[in-house]
Amino acid sequence: MVLLEYKRCARCGRILHISHFNRNISMPDGRQMHCRECGKIATAESRAKAEERRAIRNEAVAILNGDVPMNVVSVEAILKHIVEVL
Ligand SMILES: [Zn+2]
Repeated sequence: MVLLEYKRCARCGRILHISHFNRNISMPDGRQMHCRECGKIATAESRAKAEERRAIRNEAVAILNGDVPMNVVSVEAILKHIVEVL
């Protein structure tokens, strides 16, 4: 069955040969939902997001510890951190 060799990427919507999808045994068809290309972008994005969260958290902790003087920018950082924690 030729159709089973093709799959639509859940992210970019392209219909690609299954060789463009990484294997994932937890998926019903044994392949990732996203094509490799989109997988790379998603990984980079989540890494950047995690890095940003870490930076905000570190800044908030430093401010709350009194290591960094409070100013408008630092108050923003604390508020951002609180919003993310909640
Ligand atoms: Zn894709």
